[in-house]
Amino acid sequence: MRTSIATVSISGDLREKLEAIAAAGFDGVEIFENDFLAYDRSPRDVARMVADLGLTITLFQPFRDFEGLPEPQRSQAFERAERKFDLMAELGTDLMLVCSNVSPLALGGIDRAADDLRALGERAARHGLRVGYEALAWGRHVNDHRDAWEIVRRADHANIGIILDSFHTLSRGLDPNSIRSIPGDKIFIVQLADAPLIDMDLLYWSRHFRSMPGEGDLAVTDFMRAVAATGYDGPISLEIFNDQFRSGSPRTIAADGHRSLVYLMDQVRIAEPDIAIDVPVLPPRVDVQGVAFVEFAADEAEAETLAGHLRQLGFRLTGRHRSKAVDRFSQGDINIVINTEREGLAHSAYLTHGTSAYALGLMVDDAAATVQRAGALGAQLFSQRVGPDQLSIPAVRGIGGGVIYFLDEKSPLGRVWDIEFEVVDDPQQRSDAGLRRVDHVAQTMNYEEMLTWILFYRSIFVAEKSPMVDVVDPSGLVRSQVIENASGSLRLTLNGAESHRTLAGRFIAETFGSSIQHLAFASDDIFATADALRRNGMKTLEISPNYYDDLQARLGIEADMLDRLRAANILYDRDAEGEFFQLYSTNVGEGFFFEIVQRGAGYRGYGALNAPFRIAAQKRALAPLSVPEV
Ligand code: MG
Ligand code: MG
Repeated sequence: MRTSIATVSISGDLREKLEAIAAAGFDGVEIFENDFLAYDRSPRDVARMVADLGLTITLFQPFRDFEGLPEPQRSQAFERAERKFDLMAELGTDLMLVCSNVSPLALGGIDRAADDLRALGERAARHGLRVGYEALAWGRHVNDHRDAWEIVRRADHANIGIILDSFHTLSRGLDPNSIRSIPGDKIFIVQLADAPLIDMDLLYWSRHFRSMPGEGDLAVTDFMRAVAATGYDGPISLEIFNDQFRSGSPRTIAADGHRSLVYLMDQVRIAEPDIAIDVPVLPPRVDVQGVAFVEFAADEAEAETLAGHLRQLGFRLTGRHRSKAVDRFSQGDINIVINTEREGLAHSAYLTHGTSAYALGLMVDDAAATVQRAGALGAQLFSQRVGPDQLSIPAVRGIGGGVIYFLDEKSPLGRVWDIEFEVVDDPQQRSDAGLRRVDHVAQTMNYEEMLTWILFYRSIFVAEKSPMVDVVDPSGLVRSQVIENASGSLRLTLNGAESHRTLAGRFIAETFGSSIQHLAFASDDIFATADALRRNGMKTLEISPNYYDDLQARLGIEADMLDRLRAANILYDRDAEGEFFQLYSTNVGEGFFFEIVQRGAGYRGYGALNAPFRIAAQKRALAPLSVPEV
């Protein structure tokens, strides 16, 4: 597999773009003409820079408004093409993209367009160049790859081929299987982009909302399966126009792009076992069986405070690490680890973010294979010096800089608690609160980074993403998206903050980017849990009485039940499948909190309707910002 990406897809000047593209592991790059025009070096300098970075130029683009023109525009278009051919020779690329004409001057007619392309092919051949023709979804006469192919077929010239672009095909709802009949050697390059399903003008949608394959809702895998069936073995190139990407970090976006292609081609390989596809064979996507532990980094004083919160929640100290300053608290199947080491990643996480849940341990079938897959998808592998009584736990860095550890039952990793921890009795133990397991882990990030997180998780794990939900914070909007598997043993809620004045945004600012903002534990009886918490002296988040009045009006809850909810500050939701109860702690440290849920069988949501009232309550309970708002 040869990978490529258009320079327009990422931010920076041409050098920054190329460096990021090379660092991400791409083989080639499409030079988008404006990126070259805005750069102040000669074409030969650019050619040298590209070669020095170990890249090749797969394509020069775009050449617009060419075919079907009347005179004198037709002759002018050929003159224009000749000048670009000279430039391409200096840049050292042999392929030009011609996109279908959008000019009001353009005349229709497949044969007219074919004649023009044949004549352009003749000229290109004299320069040793090739021309690929692409149907724009909004082209004046040609807006369908089937028409573009018919034109290329009739042009019947060795130097003229078709360029396929998943966005142009899929955005118009065209069946990608119509690609299967195109001879693979007549496809000169394949451009890929995904996009969220939004009902809007095609041109605007394409120019602003494209995303990496796997980040959006289009059937890019089906598209690429059809391409693979033609025998095409040229570069697979990304052409992504996206406002967030153009203002994002070039390195991150380029890395996302490369990850998206490895993930996509892995899916294509699995879906088309009869086609020889030249891609590495990765271990399959990983089905997470549950959250094995959550690890906090803290200093000793804050560790005491956190331990106090955990005991109020019904956790008890069950283990002490044999050689490190690490304590284990347990309840039901939940394990919370507090790390107060003075060195290593936990300590640097503490120094950077304050007390924070910086690491997650996930139970999987095969921890080694999980890390192998993640590594092949560009995740950074993580390991620390292993002391006596310690296992080397396979791990990767998460997107926010935290760590994800993997445990399995097939290796000694499944006995990590016995091996690394000494069993202890908790002298300060309080009542068990009936918390069974981790229901979900909520991570907070800047909105611009959300797609990076989604792609990271979905490419490594068997997980689907829910539609994005807008959550109203009194100070702005937070976008919420769920990554989960069918059984619910992996549930991650991602919250993208657009404003630092929102609760989520403030958390990011105060903790310098720490990512896990709340942990939700499942109870089988939230009222019994609430009683235990009260006995344990825990203060729960106080919900406005107005919320309960509305709940009665909205859902017609019986008075008795409503009183119980109100008395315990429990939020309520239900849908056709079941009921959902939620209870929140007050804030722990810099905006971190715990949630307790009781999930009726079949209820798959997260109480999104309740979020604005919970957030408002949390903001009332917060101390004023330590930094003046500007
Ligand atoms: Mg394109
Ligand atoms: Mg939650």
